[in-house]
Amino acid sequence: MSNRDYYDVLGLGHDATEEDIKKAYRKLARKYHPDLNKDHPKEAEEKFKEVNEAYQVLSDPGKRSQYDQVGHDAYQQAAQGGGGSGGPGGFEGFGGFGGGGFGGFEDIFDMFTGGGRRSNGPARGADLRHDLQITLREAYRGVKKTFTVTKDDVCARCHGNGAEPGTAAETCPHCQGTGQQRVVRNGPFGQMVNVVSCPYCGGTGRIIKEKCHDCRGTGVMRVQKTLEVNIPAGADTGVRMRISGEGDPGQRGGPKGDLYVYIYVKDDPDFERNGDDLYRDVEISFPTAALGSTIHVMTLEEEVELRIPAGTQSGTRFRISGKGMPKLQRNGHGDLYVIVRVSVPKKLKSEEKEALLDYAKISGEDISKYRGKESFLDKIIDKLKG
Ligand SMILES: [Zn+2]
Ligand SMILES: [Zn+2]
Repeated sequence: MSNRDYYDVLGLGHDATEEDIKKAYRKLARKYHPDLNKDHPKEAEEKFKEVNEAYQVLSDPGKRSQYDQVGHDAYQQAAQGGGGSGGPGGFEGFGGFGGGGFGGFEDIFDMFTGGGRRSNGPARGADLRHDLQITLREAYRGVKKTFTVTKDDVCARCHGNGAEPGTAAETCPHCQGTGQQRVVRNGPFGQMVNVVSCPYCGGTGRIIKEKCHDCRGTGVMRVQKTLEVNIPAGADTGVRMRISGEGDPGQRGGPKGDLYVYIYVKDDPDFERNGDDLYRDVEISFPTAALGSTIHVMTLEEEVELRIPAGTQSGTRFRISGKGMPKLQRNGHGDLYVIVRVSVPKKLKSEEKEALLDYAKISGEDISKYRGKESFLDKIIDKLKG
């Protein structure tokens, strides 16, 4: 399995056309074909495999769009079938997420990469994060969600260079465009040379004579952007999806970062979820439990019948196969477990009361003897009945 991004493997950008992908594949497959690389057969074979793997995914529009959405690592895990580790369908989990991370579900952005900063070279924009809450029912069917984020984007007026259109930025004369200045200081141990960011150009190496009127020279504008994400059926809390190129703009010509959507599935009032399985409590009456019957149970999709055998105890668990959550990126569903609770009526009609007293008497239990704590109302009712 390749641990490099498939686009990198083929030397392409994320906007590559089908034709670009085909061309790049043909070129690289020829280059690394084991028959043509008798000098380094092992190395060539590895490369050849990697190129094939990348092409298999990127040449298939369905696979490619999945890959684009979930990212390299998650896609590979899912393709391997999750390895039985019990994760939600092989998608990445989010570690260390508890502890009040989910507050008001506003747009929460933080940088999670942004590393590798060099002072003057192009730098990739930071990745952003957006938390998205869905219901269990939405997770069941899969759902297309639209959401709005407020984020930085490249200024449309100056295309990010910060200079008002028609004017040009000049190389900073104080640092000759390096963005750095050397400061020589005489200390107790002799001369020290400190390299500091150039104060005249702010380390950019350029001086903008007339700043862009829209972004005031920063090259960046705060924008509201509406984005769409297709959440697959079976998604669980912890699944994260990548929207390529919707992160922060890059600096000095670097590429944009990505936006990661973190899925959080809300608790449902009726169903509890454990992986692909669902659990729900259902109340049954004492006669149903004692005599046996067939009851109707709502799954997340439809009403089904469930046979309750005679003599069922409160707390008994029944399994309805295949009525749980769909398995993420795999076929089939989990199961639905129904836990029956035998309910005790809070109020009885007098006939029901009579019947129960008779039932008690027949089974050798003289309840009336012990019913000393009858309420005042019970006594009056008894008296009225004579
Ligand atoms: Zn601008
Ligand atoms: Zn400078």
